[in-house]
Amino acid sequence: MPQRKRGQTPVEQAVALILQALDVPKTTEKVPLLQALGRVAAQDVCARVAQPPFDRSALDGYALRAAEIAAAGPKTPVTLPISRYLCAGSDPGGPLEPGTAARIMTGAPIPAGADCVLRQEDTKSDGQTVTFYAQVAAKANICFAGEDIAPGKCLAPAGTLLDEVYLGLLAGQGVQTVQVYAKPRVALMPTGDELYSPDKPLIPGKIYDSNGPMLAARLLRLGAEPTLLAAGPDDPAALGRKLAELLEAYPLVITTGGVSVGDRDYLPQAAEEAGARLLFYGIDAKPGTPALAAEKNGHILLCLSGNPFASFATFELLARPALAKLQGTAPAPVRVKATLANGFEKASPLRRFVRAKLVGGVVTLPKGGHFSGGIGALVGCNCLVDVPAGSSALHTGDEVEVILL
Ligand code: AMP
Ligand code: MG
Repeated sequence: MPQRKRGQTPVEQAVALILQALDVPKTTEKVPLLQALGRVAAQDVCARVAQPPFDRSALDGYALRAAEIAAAGPKTPVTLPISRYLCAGSDPGGPLEPGTAARIMTGAPIPAGADCVLRQEDTKSDGQTVTFYAQVAAKANICFAGEDIAPGKCLAPAGTLLDEVYLGLLAGQGVQTVQVYAKPRVALMPTGDELYSPDKPLIPGKIYDSNGPMLAARLLRLGAEPTLLAAGPDDPAALGRKLAELLEAYPLVITTGGVSVGDRDYLPQAAEEAGARLLFYGIDAKPGTPALAAEKNGHILLCLSGNPFASFATFELLARPALAKLQGTAPAPVRVKATLANGFEKASPLRRFVRAKLVGGVVTLPKGGHFSGGIGALVGCNCLVDVPAGSSALHTGDEVEVILL
């Protein structure tokens, strides 16, 4: 790396630099259907059968030929013999005998010849015959084969993030295993001499590590396979060696802490010592301005600020797109417009990402706690408000753009 001077790379450009440099190991694996939840399909999955697979009754009643009861009404009932009994799971048998009706339950197959189902509420039956007090249109109350899903339809193209609905769709096709991309393996190393083991009571000057577990949990939630490492020391040589080792083994290595301009901020130097090529140092936004990214053999090192909210926000902005690329899905974060329910006092000379909660198009900012060192006010937040550089205070009713978490 040529020099360690911090710049202000625009966030979008920073993301582009990361995505450009990141190689994707396209490893795939076959997993049982339920384990495919939250994974990304590595192959198109197409419908092998129509859904429903056969014409079936939409309700409990009688299947018949509509023309045979065309004259039926409250005062002109028509009576037909019941020639068969069909419930869900029954074999429909041969064509329905003309001049008869089939007793039929919801989900049962419509026998050939029958073209409608009349609901039982409009009939009377003694078990042998059925009397109709209403006529019915042809095709009424039949769910036709393929009306939900036509055979051959591509249900989940490669790259689809599989959620519970996709699992239901595939299960309806008898799919038992799915070829998915391997979970991205991500190394996560908090750094800082102040980080102290949680199995000991705190001593003056020390803190427990929030970032490691928080970002590891985020990675888990986003479908990655995180390895949370022991806290790294504020020691450039030791950090450099560790990073070199991690960059060999993981496509994405994330650190927190030690990336700013303080005396003990050694990550820029450690990245250099690890032999990584600098992509950018410093972004044009708050929090997390000192973020750094470097590349080695297609693997990415992302160094985030140690301030917990800063690490959280820059993870969303910078790491999440990389993760999406590793998973084979679209990298774009979801952005929506929303109206502010309350104001934000501070002006934003630099672009700023503010934690907030979005409900029904209305976004509410926490009352206080807007500092990058704390996550108390992040509880319950589900988005980041993207405040453009040069903005003055925000007011109730302002339209803003938010990034969904
Ligand atoms: P740094 O980015 O190293 O300058 O750290 C900025 C602030 O974040 C300092 O107050 C650190 O003590 C704090 N910090 C660093 N790492 C962590 C962590 N893993 N968990 C919680 N706080 C941290
Ligand atoms: Mg530090």
